[in-house]
Amino acid sequence: MPGPLDFAEARRIVIETVRALALPQTAETVSLDHAHGRILAEDLTADRDYPTLERSLRDGFAIHFHDVPGVLKVRGEVRAGEAEKAPLEAGEALEIMTGAPVPAGADAVVMVENVKRLDDGRVQIDAHAEQGQFINPRGAEAPAGSLLIPKATMLDASHIASLAMTGHSAVKVRTRPSVAILATGDEIVRLDQQPAPHQIRNSNSHMLASLVRASGGTATILPVAGDTREALIPLLQQGLTHDMLIVSGGVSAGKYDLVKPTLRELGVNFHFERVRVQPGQPTAFGTFSNKPVFGLPGNPGSTLITFQLFARAALQLLGGIDYPVLPLLSATFEAPFSHKLGLTRFLPARLSDDGQRLRHIPWQGSSDIPALAKANVFLVADHDRQDWAVGDSIRVLLKA
Ligand code: AMP
Ligand code: MG
Repeated sequence: MPGPLDFAEARRIVIETVRALALPQTAETVSLDHAHGRILAEDLTADRDYPTLERSLRDGFAIHFHDVPGVLKVRGEVRAGEAEKAPLEAGEALEIMTGAPVPAGADAVVMVENVKRLDDGRVQIDAHAEQGQFINPRGAEAPAGSLLIPKATMLDASHIASLAMTGHSAVKVRTRPSVAILATGDEIVRLDQQPAPHQIRNSNSHMLASLVRASGGTATILPVAGDTREALIPLLQQGLTHDMLIVSGGVSAGKYDLVKPTLRELGVNFHFERVRVQPGQPTAFGTFSNKPVFGLPGNPGSTLITFQLFARAALQLLGGIDYPVLPLLSATFEAPFSHKLGLTRFLPARLSDDGQRLRHIPWQGSSDIPALAKANVFLVADHDRQDWAVGDSIRVLLKA
């Protein structure tokens, strides 16, 4: 194994490794109203010119630009939704509404605010006009046949608008990858069990299932596995029948951390087993034929952060996204902050509603679910910087 990997390097390994796998490319058709967040399976092209004819960008008067300054005869009006009128003659103006077709011959629109209506019904325009002003030319937004959205795009509201614009009430999207989730640990109990003081409820499986669904996958929660090879083998085997497997717990260096040797025994090939981050240092990433496999450390803070940094990218690629993006932005500290050098730390923090000012949330370490729940972001304290003063900037990771 090489030395400790930086998180960006580890993430790059995940992305390059998963990109190189022969991934299934299945698709299904969903109605447009259920397409938000899905991954487009085919390119979307323009079915006609957009706009289909010259349209006015303002309420005003369509004119010949060389007729102004001057006094023009008003030929009538054209509204949005009306068909094209007869060509505009020299010395004429046509009152026009935003979105209405510009008549043939007209080559400029003057805003209504810059037009004086005379008592005899004519209009006086005092300023010069530029040829083409406030006219949206035919095909200027997208000519017929041009690419509007490439396949492998995750559909957002603007894409839904593009699909509606081109007449699609249904759309072909990639099928959701199926992700198996396996929590391990002798101390972990189900939610319907009353935990003894030395036991812990299984929060990770449910947290991971929610993260998987929010990242485009379907989640199957397997029964909790005890910390023995015999307990692990059948559940890991079951997990490896899905498109991707995420195991929580049992990947540290303890005597009962048997997840990695057992996965190896089943044929999983590991690409890294340690990352220079906290929480989440013992994160392991491997592949089993064309399936990504993650062993995430079991403390919920570690599981949450390492899912976001690493597993989410693999799942997004599996789901058909071309370029998974880590949602990092930058903010400035409202109070001084320091940490120990050596590891890049992802710590719960609160970003102000203007998206700029940051406060660290005190926490007891990676088991502290209440602190995770108070956070709206994670600050990213680089491994090679110790102190930040008020006003210093730092990167933050948005919560998935
Ligand atoms: P491990 O990674 O197995 O060493 O687990 C580290 C700690 O994470 C354990 O001591 C538990 O307190 C906690 N933990 C492990 N699995 C879960 C889980 N499924 N849900 C909640 N906490 C867990
Ligand atoms: Mg354990």
